[in-house]
Amino acid sequence: MQILVQKFGGTSVQSEENRKHVIKHIKNALVKDYKLVVVVSALGRKPDPYATDSLLELVGFPATNSSDREIDLLMSCGEIISSVVLSNELKKQHINAIALTGAQAGFITSEDFTQAKIKEVKPERIYKELENNDVVVVAGFQGQTEMGEITTIGRGGSDTSAAALGAALQAEMVEIFTDVEGIMTADPRIVKNAHSLDVVTYSEICNLAYQGAKVIHPRAVEIAMQAKIPLRVRSTYSLEPGTLVTSSRVKEMGVDIQDRLVTGIAHMSSITQLKVQTKEEAYRLQSDVFKAMAEAGISVDFINISPAGVIYTVPNDLADKAVYVLETLGFKPEITRNCAKVSAVGAGMTGVPGVAAEIVQALTNAGVQILQSADSYTTIWVLVHEKDLKTAVNALHDVFSL
Ligand code: ADP
Ligand code: ASP
Ligand code: MG
Repeated sequence: MQILVQKFGGTSVQSEENRKHVIKHIKNALVKDYKLVVVVSALGRKPDPYATDSLLELVGFPATNSSDREIDLLMSCGEIISSVVLSNELKKQHINAIALTGAQAGFITSEDFTQAKIKEVKPERIYKELENNDVVVVAGFQGQTEMGEITTIGRGGSDTSAAALGAALQAEMVEIFTDVEGIMTADPRIVKNAHSLDVVTYSEICNLAYQGAKVIHPRAVEIAMQAKIPLRVRSTYSLEPGTLVTSSRVKEMGVDIQDRLVTGIAHMSSITQLKVQTKEEAYRLQSDVFKAMAEAGISVDFINISPAGVIYTVPNDLADKAVYVLETLGFKPEITRNCAKVSAVGAGMTGVPGVAAEIVQALTNAGVQILQSADSYTTIWVLVHEKDLKTAVNALHDVFSL
């Protein structure tokens, strides 16, 4: 049995009109004799009534009395509704289909409500349903604990559900259908001349996704990479092949393409920079600050430590809590709210001199102030004011001729 996993995101399943495009892709795969496992996200985006954020609004989230366990019960309904709506429309088209919740599809997760980890996917039920159906429609983004509690696996998690099913079913391919042509050199909402890439490696897109390219969830890429299942990111609204994500460009393309200096520019906004300076007892300061942040459950990023103090970033919505924790320790942090992190990602920049210099030059020419920077062998990050985000991403996209 040749199995293909297809995942359709929120906008793709938003309306009956959009779902006609979804059904076209499903029919195209069935003609090629695949058995299909189709993973769906909740219908549309807020203010659509069954979108995840609309459901959360029903209980006043984030200022809610509901426990995380109940939030998961609520959010899981979005994808369940979507799976039944699509299955119903497939049956109307005389396609044998059945809808399953994540739990029914065999997803076993940890107990970390709203951020659960997939521990295992038991594929038996899906195999059984594929004996009598051509399409099994699975509600993405969810599973259940060993004790039968419903969980969700983190926002944007339907991509991860699809990759995990691809691995469990040893699918030939996982296709991620979305509202853009494929993986692009930058977010097309920010860079008008961003273009789609034919092929990228798992590690290139994983780095881009961790730096904010939300076209695919990084955990989905990691799961596909470990299971050696190729992914394809493509548009719901066209028949173009989109972007192939695989381990080896050489094997897939029949040509040896050098690692790209810069594959793409990613960004993340709504970040606050905190500076804690001191002249004495620097060692105590460093360990106290990060211990306190960890104890308060605040994830920190972009950490620079020097004898003069520490600088780091937190998400905007955790900034007040972080400042309170620092003040309780007796520190007076310098706070810069509304920053954005812009990253140039490319496997080919390792050891190439002058890449950072080009970035600094391009941002200076564009009048963008750099608040902080850091680099690894595949990524250079800069922190800028959020008001400069668009200018900064476009300047870097231009300077590397992407
Ligand atoms: P879905 O609901 O289908 O999961 P998402 O909104 O999660 O869709 O992801 C698709 C969006 O990702 C695009 O509309 C685009 O604005 C954004 N995006 C950010 N970076 C990139 C990139 N490098 N390539 C393509 N899309 C990107
Ligand atoms: N509906 C969920 C979300 O909005 C999961 C997903 O779309 O992947 O985060
Ligand atoms: Mg998504």
